[in-house]
Amino acid sequence: MEEGLRNVVIVGSGPAGLTAALYAARAELKPLVVAGEQWGGQLMITSDVENFPGFPKGIKGPELMQLMRQQAERFGAEIVDVNVEKIDLKSRPFKVTVRGREIETHAAILATGASSRWLDLPNEKRLIGAGLSSCATCDGFFFKGKELVVVGGGDSAMEEASFLTKFASKVTVVHRRDTLRASKIMQERAKKNPKISFVFDTVVADVLGKDHVEGVRLKNIKTGEEKDFKTDGVFVAIGHKPNTDFLSGQIALDKKGYIVVTNQTRTNIAGVFVAGDVQDYRYRQAITAAGLGCMASIDAEKWLEEKGLIGSHKSSVWKD
Ligand code: NAP
Repeated sequence: MEEGLRNVVIVGSGPAGLTAALYAARAELKPLVVAGEQWGGQLMITSDVENFPGFPKGIKGPELMQLMRQQAERFGAEIVDVNVEKIDLKSRPFKVTVRGREIETHAAILATGASSRWLDLPNEKRLIGAGLSSCATCDGFFFKGKELVVVGGGDSAMEEASFLTKFASKVTVVHRRDTLRASKIMQERAKKNPKISFVFDTVVADVLGKDHVEGVRLKNIKTGEEKDFKTDGVFVAIGHKPNTDFLSGQIALDKKGYIVVTNQTRTNIAGVFVAGDVQDYRYRQAITAAGLGCMASIDAEKWLEEKGLIGSHKSSVWKD
């Protein structure tokens, strides 16, 4: 890689990062995308995506990401599958360190997304996408007439459980305490729903099934009693974690670690823009992330233009 000063570096390569890359490339900003060693984000572990407009027959998550990547590359986005080791947003230009090398950039778009929290169970990884999910909006549709378990006691768990009753014949919410964390209104809505029942003081000790989820092992944490419980699917709704560890001390984060947005896609640092689940804990959809990526790119371009910075970079080409 030749070091050089860039117009814009995009960190992250889910729908937000790659859409930002597409727009920045078409604006001839020659963006560099630091995609992460595992590029593509949460859609890389999603089987069928049926709610992304333009694909009436649905599309596999990884295929959709591959297409987004190709589209950004077609217009000249440079995408490297490495992690950010360090970022310095306090100096100008900003500095992004990857594989021990320092890249300078006038603007940055942060689009590192969020990761679902999982339970860390012995069979969990193996069954993700095979009846085990963390996104009811994405996967609920595949469980028409089935019986489901939702794990968690917060607003997400209540929301997912209620949403899943559109498809499922029965939803059992398993919560580790005897009191729900969810807001009163969300609790009442779920409790009034005749398809939803609750199992309290209980954790899921493992997910059971050979090629597909067939049940869960439940453990009552007060009595220690364990029993197997038949279910066709499990939705884990114990919260998300924004991928912002690498930003600690660099930019304003809220108490849960999400990047604070000051105005549209702007942050507390001029020239640093944000898109997707790393700031949005409400919608968390591929299409909203893509929309935010587009907005961040347009905002970054306008900012670079206003500051007279466009084109003041030495071109740099990534070479391993
Ligand atoms: P959350 O409020 O942090 O709730 C997480 C739930 O998962 C808690 O009940 C927690 O149990 C449980 N949990 C955490 N780790 C666990 C583990 N290892 N094993 C078993 N259970 C575990 O997260 P969230 O529900 O995703 O909500 C996040 C934020 O988004 C909240 O501010 C929420 O209000 C908001 N939200 C709002 C809406 C809405 O208004 N429509 C919808 C969704 C989310 P404990 O209760 O014992 O800690």
